[in-house]
Amino acid sequence: MKRQSSYAKDEGKLYLVPTPIGNLEDITIRAKKVLTDADYVAAEDTRTSGILLKKIGVHNKMISFHKYNSKERAPELIKLMKEGAVIAEISDAGMPVISDPGYVLVQECIKHDIPVVPLPGPNAFSTALIASGFNQPFTYYGFLPRKSSEQKTYFAQMRDNRATSIFYEAPHRLAKNLKTLASVLPKDRQIVAARELTKIHEEFIRGSVEEVTNYFNENAPRGEFVILVSPNTEAPKQLSWTELIDLVNDLVEKGESKKDAIKQVAKQHHVSKNELYDQYHQD
Ligand code: SAM
Repeated sequence: MKRQSSYAKDEGKLYLVPTPIGNLEDITIRAKKVLTDADYVAAEDTRTSGILLKKIGVHNKMISFHKYNSKERAPELIKLMKEGAVIAEISDAGMPVISDPGYVLVQECIKHDIPVVPLPGPNAFSTALIASGFNQPFTYYGFLPRKSSEQKTYFAQMRDNRATSIFYEAPHRLAKNLKTLASVLPKDRQIVAARELTKIHEEFIRGSVEEVTNYFNENAPRGEFVILVSPNTEAPKQLSWTELIDLVNDLVEKGESKKDAIKQVAKQHHVSKNELYDQYHQD
């Protein structure tokens, strides 16, 4: 067990600082202060962040920290923090670590007992979720693999998911990937495309997967997107093992073989046949 008291000591630490996803006014007063007071700002892209920091009136030393140098750069940053430096980490936009670099550094800090201090702030998927009209719980998938054969595995999970599913997609891949999504989901399943959040062209395109897919076939997607898939309300409630075993026994009583009964119940209730077999044969 490890216990982190974020502000107990005046010591080196890592601040995770969210930056605007479009509207610069979304930077918080605290984020500006932390970025100003830190010894260094570790930025995914020092050029992009340089422009942002200048616009919000922050002048500080930047260190480049991105997914291609994070393994080598992390030990250097850890050394600085162990010597007492305060580092504020930012990504190009939104929350560091969320589909952005930072995870490696967070892990290293925890390993070395360096406090990791998160700031609340802008993030694309939670902003999209609260206006989507879809409920919680939710599952966040980040970016999906590019191959449609691999995407289909995720889309099948979303089809069955009893929670809202959320993913990020680049505009030039959106139309094609929505077609793949439409090939896996029932036609009338509701989805939302949240576009250009917090920016002047912000839009929510809400409708069935068929309608939204057709819309983007006719209107080329532009800007940044979050896609949300409504929960599956058709799926049977997830039953306990005891309830599933009762169903197997019912079928056996009606004359099914144990093997076939297990197979049928497993298929109907989306559980592993082997696991149900093991549960059924447990004492
Ligand atoms: N760390 C960020 C966050 O907290 O949301 C996400 C970074 S990820 C590299 C960038 C993706 O987030 C974009 O491709 C898009 O899918 C989504 N995104 C970022 N800003 C957005 C915005 N203003 N509107 C819609 N989606 C956005």
